[in-house]
Amino acid sequence: MKKSCIIIGAGLSGLTAAHELIKNNWEVTILDKGRGVGGRMATRRAGEARFDHGTQYFSTKTTNFQAFSQNIIQKNIAKEWNLQECDKTFSHARVIGINGMNTIPKFLAEGLNIKTNEKVISISEIENGCKVSTETGNFYEANALICTAPAPQAIELLQKSEMGFTEIEALQSIHYQPCLAVMVNLKTQTNIPSPGGISLENSNVSWVADNFQKGISPIFSATIHANPAFSLAHFDDDLTQIGHQLLSEIVDLIPADSVESYQVHRWRYSLASERYAENYLTSNSTKFSLIFAGDGFGIGNIEGAYISGKSAAQSLFI
Ligand SMILES: Cc1cc2nc3c(=O)[nH]c(=O)nc-3n(C[C@H](O)[C@H](O)[C@H](O)COP(=O)(O)OP(=O)(O)OC[C@H]3O[C@@H](n4cnc5c(N)ncnc54)[C@H](O)[C@@H]3O)c2cc1C
Repeated sequence: MKKSCIIIGAGLSGLTAAHELIKNNWEVTILDKGRGVGGRMATRRAGEARFDHGTQYFSTKTTNFQAFSQNIIQKNIAKEWNLQECDKTFSHARVIGINGMNTIPKFLAEGLNIKTNEKVISISEIENGCKVSTETGNFYEANALICTAPAPQAIELLQKSEMGFTEIEALQSIHYQPCLAVMVNLKTQTNIPSPGGISLENSNVSWVADNFQKGISPIFSATIHANPAFSLAHFDDDLTQIGHQLLSEIVDLIPADSVESYQVHRWRYSLASERYAENYLTSNSTKFSLIFAGDGFGIGNIEGAYISGKSAAQSLFI
């Protein structure tokens, strides 16, 4: 009989873990509390405009991830973005989704058994495995469980499960930066030099991208990210006010009269700034295999999420 695994989270780490397990003949069910797949690899529409409002791009350091990146470029799911041409802090090209970053997880999700709008609220032990319950009142059972929720959300889940998990302390060592993201509908193109992305220093704004030049929006639109200090200090402030302030700081890049409308998104967890050193964490508290993974483990970012998901799945074959 096939072994089975539940994966919490349909972000890059969860999707990568699922492919690795399926390749090794496991049965996989992915549960995600979101409406769609991709987690922080998010692309949003407002009218005809499209915005990458979470992850902007990724780079590749390891051979394994380079192979993954080349594969999705060859399949026309992703392409290179030559940011080094307009921002000298970039030494080489980055990789982006062809129609936005969410194109990549959507591609990976094809053919997988994924249930969205399913927030896991508790984990319990059963004979030969585990049982999870979701907010909608559903239950799922499997031999193993991989949890890829950001560490604070994983901790909340463990605490609600009341099983005396000893991993909580290790998970508490993982920290994420918040990020306030402004999505701007524009009447005219931005003044960001081609190909349309720039990082800023000595400003409350850390990053501005022109989604039209990036090739992901059919009409003019921009994404602005506030830096971590500003995002932390103003996280619960009025969103219209936040957008107004950040836009007023970059009128050289986005002139005030080119702004048609804007919306602001609060990312409580963006980059994992303090991470668990290993690529994943195996629980000692359960008889079934329970593994924690995601960008809070190992090298972080998109590449770290990929490596973590893959290594977590492989640890189940040992
Ligand atoms: C604003 C911003 C900018 C970024 N910029 C970059 C960048 O330029 N380059 C880069 O490499 N990285 C960047 N990142 C980081 C990158 O997005 C992450 O490292 C990566 O997407 C993490 O993938 P993951 O699978 O580990 O987690 P996630 O993508 O967060 O996936 C976890 C999933 O778990 C789900 N979940 C959580 N709790 C539950 C539950 N109880 N039940 C069910 N589902 C649950 C969530 O809905 C989510 O879909 C950025 C992130 C943000 C937010």
